[in-house]
Amino acid sequence: MTRSLPRLIPTGTCWCGCGKETAIGAFFSQGHDKIAEAALVAAEFNGSVPQLLHAHGYGPGRSAIHQAVEAGTWQACPEKDCWYKGTAQSVRTHQRKYHPTDHSAQAKSIP
Ligand SMILES: [Zn+2]
Ligand SMILES: [Zn+2]
Repeated sequence: MTRSLPRLIPTGTCWCGCGKETAIGAFFSQGHDKIAEAALVAAEFNGSVPQLLHAHGYGPGRSAIHQAVEAGTWQACPEKDCWYKGTAQSVRTHQRKYHPTDHSAQAKSIP
């Protein structure tokens, strides 16, 4: 189930609200997307991620990770018995770190 979202256009000013100018086509100055994300949780949910999840109908009974994969935004790590899910880029980073193709490398435990 993919929700249809409005099309957003970068405005040339950072959307975190810091007032900095951004690169052409960018919503945020470098790293400010994470600041905006944390600020939203702080502003609306008392800084509590459990409250954020609950407000959107997620929690232990309904996995936001599962929904992210269902929506096609995140992918599951293709390794057998691995729980890891994330963006295509983070799955690649995860695979390099935890499933090295060089099997002589010492196996690391999944965090
Ligand atoms: Zn900013
Ligand atoms: Zn994995």
